[in-house]
Order: sequence, then structure tokens, then C-alpha cells
Amino acid sequence: AEPRAKFTRVLLKISGEALMGDQGFGLHPPTVERIAGEVKSVHDLGVEICMVIGGGNVFRGLQGSAQGMERTTADYMGMLATVMNALAMQSSLERMGVNTRVISAIRMDEVCEPYIRRRAVRHLEKKRVCIFAAGTGNPYFTTDTAATLRANEMRCQAIFKGTKVDGVYDKDPVKHADAKRYDTVTYDEVLQKHLGVMDASAIALARDNDVPIIVFSLDETGGFRGILNGEGTYTRVH
Ligand code: UDP
Repeated sequence: AEPRAKFTRVLLKISGEALMGDQGFGLHPPTVERIAGEVKSVHDLGVEICMVIGGGNVFRGLQGSAQGMERTTADYMGMLATVMNALAMQSSLERMGVNTRVISAIRMDEVCEPYIRRRAVRHLEKKRVCIFAAGTGNPYFTTDTAATLRANEMRCQAIFKGTKVDGVYDKDPVKHADAKRYDTVTYDEVLQKHLGVMDASAIALARDNDVPIIVFSLDETGGFRGILNGEGTYTRVH
């Protein structure tokens, strides 16, 4: 287990689907609220928090291009979807009294701040949760890569990837009862065995800059805070 003092600044990555609850699409406000509560409980420990939220609950570039849309246009739609998710998360966190900023890789000054690295660092120092939206701002990337990029730029000690299961398994634990969870696994093993933690470019970017990825379950209440306190099960990709 990790000693708690080790983490003073972390990045939490969640998929857009984590916000849709049992609906097949969009935002489920009680679920957004619950995850905001998880973030608040870690914020209460004094940990500086960055967040990256995907957009798959609304739109994915590949889905659009499969239907004949130009890939870059479809990817921009996906990026815009992440901005809506970020605003929903901001709204929930602020209702709980946590100060936040939504920071977009694509300028939309009426809606949120543009990404300026030094400014974002200052927000973190002032204990504002920084929600990075619009991915990397570039088509052909994913929000996993955006998460790794921002974690590097903000010098986070780890990327916390919240999923439906409590770590990385050798096969899908939902389908196979004998699936085994790794306590730790290397970046290269994830890539070679196609373990599906994050896409390959995100894993490679984390590897080349030595940012560990902690894969944990977001379904368990108190799980995020627990890991920061040195408890719970998870996989450390390093
Ligand atoms: N996207 C992109 N560039 C980025 C990040 C995201 O083009 O830097 C687009 C891409 O089309 C992607 C969509 O936004 O499918 C939603 O992001 P993602 O699939 O990563 O969301 P998640 O699976 O985490 O919900």
C-alpha cells in the first residue's frame, strides 16, 4: 500500500460512461453527485486534484466516423461532449462547497477558462479542483491521453483511473470467474498483453515520463479516499 503522505497532487480520470448510471446515455445527476462526493472526500484530505472526464456517454469520434461523418468533425463533437460532462461535475462539486475551474483545451471563453499551464498550477495551489475539458484539443486522441498529458504538465504523482472493477485483471473479470487481479503490472506488460487499461498512446506517454497509473473501482463508496489513505485493493501500473 502507498503511504498517504506520498500523494499531494493527483489526477482522477473517469470515463463519460461513469456519469450515466444505469441509463444507456447522457448524464445521471445522482451518479454525478455521488462521484463528486468521492472527489470532495479526497479534497478534504488536502490533496490537490485534477480531473479529466471522457465523453463516451454522449459521443465518440469513432462512432460518428462509422456512420460516415468525417473523423475530425466527429472527434471535435466528442471533445465538446467532455465539456458538458466537466460542467456537470463542476456544478455538483460547487454545490458541495468545493471550488473548481473547468479548463478547456479548446477556447470557449464564455463557458470556461482556456488552458494556460501556469494558471492551472496556481488554481491547484489554491486548492481548486481543476477539471480539464476538451481532451487534448486534437482529433485522433482520447481523454486517456489527455489525462496522461495533463498529469505530466501538472506534475501529478499518479493518475487514478476509476473503473467498474478494482484493478487490472488478466482477463475480463465480469465474464471469467477465474480472472486474476494484478497488484502491480508494468506498462510494457499492459501493452504486450493488451490489458485494456488505457489506450496504447496514453500508456506509452505515462511510461516515458514515469507516471504511475492506479486502477481502482469507482463503484465502491470511499474507495478513492481509501487508496490515498493506504487502504483498499487496486492495481498499480508502473
Ligand atoms: N477526443 C479527441 N481528442 C482528445 C480527446 C477526446 O478527439 O484529445 C474525442 C474522441 O472522438 C473520443 C471522444 O472525444 O472518442 C470522447 O472521449 P473518450 O472516448 O476518451 O471518452 P471516454 O471513453 O473516456 O468516455
